[in-house]
Amino acid sequence: MLRKLLLRTSAARRSLSGAGASGSRVLPDRRPSPSLSPSPRGPASRFYASASSQVPGGTFVEHVDDGGADGPTSRPSAAISVDRSALCNPPEHSHEPTADSELVKHLKGIIKFRGGPISVAEYMEEVLTNPKAGFYINRDVFGMEGDFITSPEVSQMFGEMIGVWTMCMWEQMGQPSKVNLVELGPGRGTLMADLLRGTSKFKHFTEALHIHMVECSPTLRKLQHSNLKCIEGENVSQDVGHRTISTLAGTPVTWHAALEQVPSGLPTIIIAHEFYDALPIHQFQRASRGWCEKMVDIQEDSSFRFVLSPQPTPANLYLMKRFQWAADEEIEKLNHIEICPTAMDLTQTIAKRISSDGGGALIIDYGQNGVISDSLQAIRKHKFVDILDDPGSADLSAYVDFAAVKHSAEEASEDVSVHGPITQCQFLGALGINFRVEALLQNCTDEQAESLRAGYWQLVGEGEAPFWEGPDEQVPIGMGTRYLVTAIVNKKQGAPIPFS
Ligand code: SAH
Repeated sequence: MLRKLLLRTSAARRSLSGAGASGSRVLPDRRPSPSLSPSPRGPASRFYASASSQVPGGTFVEHVDDGGADGPTSRPSAAISVDRSALCNPPEHSHEPTADSELVKHLKGIIKFRGGPISVAEYMEEVLTNPKAGFYINRDVFGMEGDFITSPEVSQMFGEMIGVWTMCMWEQMGQPSKVNLVELGPGRGTLMADLLRGTSKFKHFTEALHIHMVECSPTLRKLQHSNLKCIEGENVSQDVGHRTISTLAGTPVTWHAALEQVPSGLPTIIIAHEFYDALPIHQFQRASRGWCEKMVDIQEDSSFRFVLSPQPTPANLYLMKRFQWAADEEIEKLNHIEICPTAMDLTQTIAKRISSDGGGALIIDYGQNGVISDSLQAIRKHKFVDILDDPGSADLSAYVDFAAVKHSAEEASEDVSVHGPITQCQFLGALGINFRVEALLQNCTDEQAESLRAGYWQLVGEGEAPFWEGPDEQVPIGMGTRYLVTAIVNKKQGAPIPFS
């Protein structure tokens, strides 16, 4: 169970200029990022309404372990156990006692002020997107120098293939003269940059595009602005006002804090790559008194610990909803379950937008097509760490429940159809990544060819790359079957490629 791609690769993404179908030239690594000035500490922007569990009716959650039928006890031996057996390296703790970070103080403040623990979802949301000190907010977390690497950073071919899918979708939509292209959680903006470079020859398409980046991090917004080679538009007609233009394909770009802020009324294509896994999840554990929500509390030594809620929380409503979508046998075998109300709500927003405006959405993430049991993990500097250790310094992410995505979309609108999930390998293969890699290999140095092959393997392969001759600890690990792809489209357009 690898979270994103743990850094076992030296195949740093090589940038190949001119992403047209042929004649590309290999350039050196894209890695060095522009120096980033500290992010402005703007107003708090909380992006998707959290369904995090505050204690219902103002009663406090007891700091208890599940004490069985005789009631709760405070025995530490009954503390919640989290199975990390499937992790490829054990979590690391930061051993030296350190002063509480700004975020730790903030989390402790919430728990103390509320007089009780907070849900895992609230913890996760604060850790990742707290407007002052969240993990994503003030730094570039991607790549060799960061905490993890994602497919767009592995190879330009990834964004190019998403470009192929987007263009096909646009054609199926009847080639509208204006289309909103929305990316949720664009990271460094690499996927969008490769998509634009790759499609820049198709003027009809790029002239129709209005790009909308949904991003919570001021630091990453700046990086996206830079990677999309944006300029501030001057010669724009009065009614349009000030515009930011990506010079990669001459397309207008706008940033938003949430999908709801993207103007509606135009046909829309939405891309969400490794966005859903960052949405806050609630965890429940089966106890003698039924399903209890797992909460985060402070223990006597002032560190964080998990406790169980002694009574139902608001998230129980979503748990019940999720159960309705599952077979009894699927639930019976579980003692632990994760649900993501924010993902359910977001999917409904997507489905309604696609229903009213036309278009489609593509969701790519690691996960499974069914109930998720216990997948939440923390990664710092390419290593698994304890979820409660030094929050804000490590990424938190969880598997995506693609079955819940499908049900949420179908529940929201009868006008949309949901396709997949299929594996990333099937998806990229059907879109022609083999031809693309062959074309790029025609015109590159030996070193670049090695990098391309390693990148190709990472995107579509499974397990360790068989051809690898470099150091063992750097062998590329395939993401081809661990990552799944699903599409939500307006039924008017018919099934999207390659799901048709
Ligand atoms: N899609 C990129 C980045 C994935 S990491 C890639 O594959 O490389 C998750 C991204 O989502 C980051 O850009 C992060 O800042 C953004 N993000 C996370 N939670 C968010 C939220 N609630 N609202 C808006 N952006 C969010």
